[in-house]
Amino acid sequence: MSDSCGCPPEAGAAMCRPPITARPVRCPTNQQVGKVVDTLTVKAMLAVPLTQILPVEYRFCRDPNCPTVYYGTGLLQLFTEVDLRERVYQKHFHEEDVFVCYCFQHTGQSIRTELQTTGKSTVIEAINAGIQAGQCACDIRNPQGSCCLGNVRTVVQRLQSELGIPPD
Ligand SMILES: [Zn+2]
Repeated sequence: MSDSCGCPPEAGAAMCRPPITARPVRCPTNQQVGKVVDTLTVKAMLAVPLTQILPVEYRFCRDPNCPTVYYGTGLLQLFTEVDLRERVYQKHFHEEDVFVCYCFQHTGQSIRTELQTTGKSTVIEAINAGIQAGQCACDIRNPQGSCCLGNVRTVVQRLQSELGIPPD
């Protein structure tokens, strides 16, 4: 690809060059493309002064092997778990004391305990009831900034299989 788009400088040729926009959506640590998160989520999750918040798009890196949780696209700014108020499920999905549902504080351990005690899990129904009751706040409680139900289903299925409990 040519370095120049062929536009005259007065047409804003500097803005046309792909490397400027092509690189920054990737996590600066592991080069994977993260999911866009609302800046409100980053503000809610940070444990550092919010003077660090910049008017850029922030993305969430879900790779368990990457220490970076949020990064600002278009510049080299990143936040790891030490900068956050919560431990991040995606970074510790195998650790059962980390929340998988942040709004109602369900963990792999609490889901395992119910499965072992009763042979079934009511966690999905409990979360849905909380959502219906207007008690859910994934945008400011969950580091991924969105609903936890997909993650919770994954944990329930993994534990059912591990404990030899047939899926519902
Ligand atoms: Zn990363």
